[in-house]
Amino acid sequence: MIPPIANRFVAGEGPAQALEHVQRLNERNVAAIVNLLGEHYDERPPVRSDAGEYRALAGDIANSDLEACISVKPSQLGLDLGEDVFREELWGVVDAAAEHGVFVWIDMEDYTTTDATLDAFEELAREYGETGRSSSDQGSDAGVGLCVQANLKRTRADVERLADVPGKVRFVKGAYNEPADVAYQDSERINREYETLLEYAFEHYDGGIAVGSHDPAMIDRAIELHEQHGTDFEIQMLMGVRETAQYDLAEEYSVYQYVPYGDRWKSYFYRRVTERKENVWFALRAILGR
Ligand code: FAD
Repeated sequence: MIPPIANRFVAGEGPAQALEHVQRLNERNVAAIVNLLGEHYDERPPVRSDAGEYRALAGDIANSDLEACISVKPSQLGLDLGEDVFREELWGVVDAAAEHGVFVWIDMEDYTTTDATLDAFEELAREYGETGRSSSDQGSDAGVGLCVQANLKRTRADVERLADVPGKVRFVKGAYNEPADVAYQDSERINREYETLLEYAFEHYDGGIAVGSHDPAMIDRAIELHEQHGTDFEIQMLMGVRETAQYDLAEEYSVYQYVPYGDRWKSYFYRRVTERKENVWFALRAILGR
């Protein structure tokens, strides 16, 4: 069982608990991006097991009629074992999800994985087409999306490359400590880059822009750009972070909450708690029972 402090950030250990959480979100007009926690596998069995769980999850989402999609990590689907393993498992998950009409996001990991992830996404996006449908008879919400990171110096060029690729793009600031030759280190610089990327996307993309940020300044900028260009967008935030803002924004905009679950929750929880001092206090208060 997930202990009370961690269950602010993690929906539960199994898919049933995650989907119960999604149901509660949907009742407040917030959709969900469900992620099974797991990454950097160095052997095949956990890769196979997680890929199988994602395929089953897509079926569960479709059968329950929930507003939800899934998000996978490349190293969870075997990228550390080789690009061939990653592609085989990723295609298996996206095919199964498409049959159920469920959308699949591909998270972006550290800069050494960007090329393999981007190439796989581009191929899949072209296969699953403009409307998110592939040539076979699949549900209307099927399709793929990719996360791009504003801290990477290469991302401007990647975002231009993605302008004529179907599928959605999630813009985030970047969660990995990257070397200075490939990534901006200063948060002001990353914020400026994030805004520049959004400006490009709202001007050049047909839609499918996801603002993956809790930053009120970035969300306000996206709303301004949406009003200026009319381009469709959605706001994505993590479970346990600015949830009141998520519910408020959902009254006017499309909002998704990223909902992690699974028994590998400890390192994810640790990351959430340590990334902000307010979260450390929250955890300490909960431990002390105050
Ligand atoms: P920050 O720059 O951390 O903070 C800016 C402002 O936002 C703060 O000053 C505060 O006003 C507000 N804020 C931020 N956090 C909180 C909080 N806990 N409580 C209250 N206010 C807060 N990164 C990747 O590298 N790859 C991915 O695939 C990826 N996927 C993501 C998916 C989603 C849906 C989200 C939301 C993030 C994802 N990230 C991913 C993480 C991302 O890169 C950032 O590390 C993370 O979102 C923190 O940046 P930020 O833009 O939210 O705000």
